[in-house]
Amino acid sequence: MRLNVAWQIIIGTVAIQVAMVAVLLLSGITQVQQNQQEVLERTAEQQSRLLESALTHGLADGDSDMLQGLLDRLGDDSSVLYSIVLDADGRPVASVGVAPDELPTPEARVRSEAGQVEIARSIELDDHHLGTVVVGYSTEAIDQLSASLLERNVLLALGVLGLSILAAIVFALMTTRRLRLLLQGGKALEAGRLDHRVPIASRDEFGDLARTFNDMAAHLGTTQSTLQQQNQQLNRSVARLESMLGGANAILWEANPDTHEWEFVAGDTRKLLGFPSRNLGRGELRARHIHPDDLPRVREATREPGVEPKVVDYRFAHRDGQWIWLRDILSWAEDSDNRRSLRGLTLDVTAHRRATAALRESENRYQDVVNHISEVIFRTDAEGRWTLLNPAWEALTGFPVEQTLGQPMCAYVDPLDRDDAESFCSTLLEGGTHAQSEEIRLRTHDGGYRWVSIYASARFDDDGQVMATFGTMMDISDRKKAEEEIRRLAFFDELTGLPNRTLLHDRLGQALANTARTRHHGAVLFIDLDNFKDINDTLGHAVGDDLLRQVAQRMSNSVREADTLARLGGDEFVIILNDLHPDPSQAATEAEAVGRKLITLLRDPFELAGQNRHITPSIGATLFSGHSLGVEEVLKQADLAMYRAKNAGRNTVRFYDPELHRAVEARFELESELREALDQDRFTIAYQPQVEADGHVIGAELLLRWPHPQRGEIAPAEFIPVAEQTGLIVPIGRKVLRTACRQLAAWRDTAPFCELTLSVNVSARQFRHTQFVHHLREMLRETGAPPNRLKLELTESMLLEDVDTVITHIDELRTLGVEFALDDFGTGYSSLAYLKQLPLSQLKIDQSFVRDVLDDPNDAAIAQMVVNLAHTLDLDVIAEGVETAEQRAFLFGLGCRHFQGYLYGYPGDLKGLEQAVLAASAEHQKTIHQTHNNSN
Ligand code: C2E
Ligand code: CA
Ligand code: CA
Repeated sequence: MRLNVAWQIIIGTVAIQVAMVAVLLLSGITQVQQNQQEVLERTAEQQSRLLESALTHGLADGDSDMLQGLLDRLGDDSSVLYSIVLDADGRPVASVGVAPDELPTPEARVRSEAGQVEIARSIELDDHHLGTVVVGYSTEAIDQLSASLLERNVLLALGVLGLSILAAIVFALMTTRRLRLLLQGGKALEAGRLDHRVPIASRDEFGDLARTFNDMAAHLGTTQSTLQQQNQQLNRSVARLESMLGGANAILWEANPDTHEWEFVAGDTRKLLGFPSRNLGRGELRARHIHPDDLPRVREATREPGVEPKVVDYRFAHRDGQWIWLRDILSWAEDSDNRRSLRGLTLDVTAHRRATAALRESENRYQDVVNHISEVIFRTDAEGRWTLLNPAWEALTGFPVEQTLGQPMCAYVDPLDRDDAESFCSTLLEGGTHAQSEEIRLRTHDGGYRWVSIYASARFDDDGQVMATFGTMMDISDRKKAEEEIRRLAFFDELTGLPNRTLLHDRLGQALANTARTRHHGAVLFIDLDNFKDINDTLGHAVGDDLLRQVAQRMSNSVREADTLARLGGDEFVIILNDLHPDPSQAATEAEAVGRKLITLLRDPFELAGQNRHITPSIGATLFSGHSLGVEEVLKQADLAMYRAKNAGRNTVRFYDPELHRAVEARFELESELREALDQDRFTIAYQPQVEADGHVIGAELLLRWPHPQRGEIAPAEFIPVAEQTGLIVPIGRKVLRTACRQLAAWRDTAPFCELTLSVNVSARQFRHTQFVHHLREMLRETGAPPNRLKLELTESMLLEDVDTVITHIDELRTLGVEFALDDFGTGYSSLAYLKQLPLSQLKIDQSFVRDVLDDPNDAAIAQMVVNLAHTLDLDVIAEGVETAEQRAFLFGLGCRHFQGYLYGYPGDLKGLEQAVLAASAEHQKTIHQTHNNSN
């Protein structure tokens, strides 16, 4: 029988209460009754004792009235049933009420019976028994009192009982309500409603229980949601894994490492192998499907556990009857309780195997083609180094392929085509998207070359960077040879191999265009062999041809690369000279020099048909510059000039322009006379003083003089350019330098000359000479001249080319102490940048500015600029060509402190200079002396 907690509490509580009340009630009643009895007995005792004393006298006196009176008063008490006094003999003396027959004795004293208490007392006087008194009391009043007391107590107990039952019910209901709430919570939990909370907030065990319960539910809730999430994730992962495996047509499995029994399989085995996984679970079942040839390998791979995963490919009999290629990727794992397992990923690699096989096949086919094709097939890396060459390379060049790989592409190109090849390579490697092609010559192992047509394109990586080039080369040597032959026939003379008339016209057209651009001159030399016809007639055409070949050979050896030697036909040759001097007469001189060289060249005898034969040419020359004349006109002029040469007696050069011819002749004469003068030491030197503002001589410039026996003195302006062109300036200049050094050495210890400097003009050609520094150093050493007294005057033109050599020479000489002045400053095109670099010590204002410095504001401005510049660069400045005191004063005003010119002295001999120095020095001394005296 099910009894719920509320009833249990109520019944329990009530039972306990009832029992308790009953016990209390019973014990209370008994107690009350006993108490009543005792009270009664004590009261009787007290009254009897009181009586005793009163009675003692009555008895002793035997006064029965008095005794009766006493008893009557006692009898007024309603509770006294009776009282009797007995004398010593036991006879009643006095009595009240009805006494029983048998009275209690004093020895018993108190006798209690139902409804009454009797007390007997002996009355004594001086130990003399007088009598006995007996009193009987009724207990009715006390019994009534006890009964009413009991009634009240029972009522009270019942009241308490009722209340406590009520309390028990309330308590039971309250308790069970909370229990019910807890129970509901438990049921909710059971039903999975984890959000359910028990609504008990009391601060007692129920409250604690509810809180614990709620915490537990909350904790369970979070745990459950985490679990749910994890579960979802897991599900998703599994789904993903399954779909991936399905997509890749693969399965994942785990098997017992000994029996190979599958313990876990993910993925669709039906799709991959054609069978459900349960049909293949056992290892030996699967083995039956594996190709017998492959089985040992599979066994081998699965037997030995490895640290690295193992891979094995094998054929597997698919359900559809086909062999498929599978790949197992195997690994061994051990779980926490040391259980080992074999894990595998099985993939279908049939398509892959097939593609690989097809690739290999196509590769073989490709290799066959590459190895047997006659064209060179190549690859290079991004730096243009060969990374692949087929055997055709060795067949073409003779270089073994292995030796070539890794070398730069251009290394095998003939030097003549190196530039073309390099630009080809760089266009290719710089990422030109178009394929490039080029025809170049490749060097061959035997020292020759082969023409190839190279065709290549670049391969790009993902970033668009060139990563390789790929191309072919075809041997086109035969075609080139044929083309060359055609060209030769079209543009070259078959007999001599020289350019023919057609090519000559073309080249001359180009030369005209060049001179128009560069402002230089060009020249055409028309060469005709004298009396060639005689040789042809007497010795035959074959010998004539032989002579022409020999002549062509000799002449072509002496023609510069930039020039063209052509054969017009018969015995006529033409030479085009390019890049001659801008000045016509100098250009003519250069052209004439070439003509003369040809004459000398042909002067040696030719061996013809076993004989030595002499031959002379007649050479006509003409200059051209720009487009003023056409090709035909220029050739015609040269032709005409050639006839002049014939008329002048052959074996000579004549110019189309007679003026030019005369000038050239004169120049050549001057040149030979210069040589003669040098040989015979006919040059002299003039000294022109250089002074300070007060006229004090500080040095002199050496100026070359050439007293000609017939023509008198020839101006340096006329002969120095010729000396420069012919190179004679080098020995002549050396002579001037030696004179200067000797003179400085001679003055070395003699005042006031020891303070003089000597300036020497040095031409560009002379200064640039490799031995210049060496010679000068030797000279200084030999003569003992103080180098710091020597000043070299250079011109700005020197800075136009090969500045580096000039600067090195200046630097080397400056370390010796030699000083440098820049001559004719302002007339050239000195770059101010160079000026800063040059370790000069002096600028020389050119005389052309000095001449008009008073009249021409431009010249004055230039002079001022030079002075300022000199000051800025911390250089000394000297004005040359100073002829008047006004010029001097003006230049002084500009800040110039050194002067040279006719005002101070003409170039003259040494003696004149020395006298001038002494005079100026004496004058100077005097001035100082006077100043000294004046100041005193
Ligand atoms: P330069 O170096 O400018 O020399 C100064 C020229 O001006 C000299 O001419 C000199 O006689 C002349 N002269 C001097 N004072 C005056 C003057 O007050 N008025 C005028 N109108 N002229 C004056 P020269 O001697 O005819 O020399 C001409 C050029 O020949 C020199 O020009 C120099 O460039 C060159 N030269 C002379 N001697 C040598 C030498 O030994 N070696 C080299 N390489 N060149 C030299
Ligand atoms: Ca000079
Ligand atoms: Ca000058």
